[in-house]
Order: sequence, then structure tokens, then C-alpha cells
Amino acid sequence: MRITLDSNKCQGHGRCYALASQLFEPDDEGYAVLRGDGVVTPELEDQALLAADNCPEYAIEVVKD
Ligand code: SF4
Repeated sequence: MRITLDSNKCQGHGRCYALASQLFEPDDEGYAVLRGDGVVTPELEDQALLAADNCPEYAIEVVKD
């Protein structure tokens, strides 16, 4: 599984890095950035899906390999 983050859509609500802090972190202005390269290890798949489901801007896409 992989995740992508569309920075153009992100409005900095912070839900992703609150719910999935091992996959996302805030930049200096509160917008989300990916930790790492977007590859999701099996133990973090639930966090990835939770973050994508809770992003109000649909900025997070989950890609199942
Ligand atoms: S939940 Fe969505 S809009 Fe909010 S910070 Fe994360 S990616 Fe950006």
C-alpha cells in the first residue's frame, strides 16, 4: 500500500497527523507533509485508511499495490 498527499488540496486541518502521526507530520504552517516516501508498511495500513477517510479535502489517496 502507498499513500499520496495532494498539497494543493490540503487546508491544514490536521486530522491526518493527529490520527496517523507515523505517516504524516505538520509543516511550519500546519499543512501536512508525508513522513517518508509514502510506502505504508502493513502495520500502518489502518492508520493510512483512517487518515484518508478523515481528510475533509480529499487530499490523501490510498493506492493498494
Ligand atoms: S487532514 Fe487533509 S486537509 Fe487536513 S492537514 Fe491532513 S491532508 Fe491536509
